[in-house]
Amino acid sequence: VAKDAGRNRYAYFTPALQRAAQNRMRLGNDLRDALAAENLQVVYQPIVDLRRGRVCKAEALVRWHHPERGPVSPAEFIPIAESSGLILEIGEWVFRQAVRDVQRWRAEIDEQFQVSVNKSPVQFHSESGMHTRWLRQVVEAGLPGDAVSLEITEGLLLEGGDGASQQLMALRRAGFSVALDDFGTGYSSLSYLQHYEIDCLKIDRAFVHELEPGSKALALCRAIITMAHELGMSVVAEGVETAHQRDLLASIGCDLGQGFFFARPMPAQALEALLRQQRGEQDLTPE
Ligand code: C2E
Ligand code: MG
Ligand code: MG
Ligand code: MG
Repeated sequence: VAKDAGRNRYAYFTPALQRAAQNRMRLGNDLRDALAAENLQVVYQPIVDLRRGRVCKAEALVRWHHPERGPVSPAEFIPIAESSGLILEIGEWVFRQAVRDVQRWRAEIDEQFQVSVNKSPVQFHSESGMHTRWLRQVVEAGLPGDAVSLEITEGLLLEGGDGASQQLMALRRAGFSVALDDFGTGYSSLSYLQHYEIDCLKIDRAFVHELEPGSKALALCRAIITMAHELGMSVVAEGVETAHQRDLLASIGCDLGQGFFFARPMPAQALEALLRQQRGEQDLTPE
């Protein structure tokens, strides 16, 4: 019986696995074409200063509109791009757009504005010249390093790897700011907070989602915020979807918020309009 079940399982899973592999391969090829044809897009999600209620940063997020399938989620195609190595080119492309956009916004609208860009661990492992190139782009745009924040995940720090940690240190020395994305959901170890210079923690939306007065999630968020502030880091709460969550986060001293409650990711032009409007309102209210 066991053998039969085993064989059935085998017969059942193999075509499914094969289809999945073929799907990934096809998507990978299509993605390569999309990159070559500049059919990817960078959108920006506002990050709001919770005390002042102002958009002071934005996260760059890549979008892919597949000609037949429509929008494909980065959660689906980033892993494919990582395993094929295409993430290197995609990452460079997103970074270039982000530098160009933040340069314009700082020059024309808000000289303090910052963009954050997600960096895959693969980008840190591939080559050591990477940070020099990123830095050169930022310098050539006439920007200080801290105009750009690099979002990395806990995995990169945990797996250690001299290469990655040295590159991270070099980037920090160059003035880039570093944010730890999805904080609290990875293989969290506090020891890396002791060994790495991190500027900002982004609390994963899994915690934000559960926020209620008296909840464990609220206690955890409060503890994370206290710890971050003690270590000189700022805190962004991800996935803020309601005014209630925003208020609770503000009441426990969270610095920044990001989520559908404030705004969805939007094209560069839309963010630009929002920033101009915000500046207009500020000019009307003398502080
Ligand atoms: P992430 O870096 O944690 O980005 C935040 C994700 O949460 C985004 O999903 C965003 O649209 C979504 N989000 C924002 N606010 C809310 C909210 O209130 N509720 C909910 N449910 N979701 C919210 P997105 O754009 O689909 O990206 C998914 C992940 O793909 C990102 O997670 C990041 O890990 C990766 N990714 C996106 N763009 C890039 C990129 O250019 N390079 C790399 N390496 N990874 C990227
Ligand atoms: Mg991110
Ligand atoms: Mg995140
Ligand atoms: Mg996330």
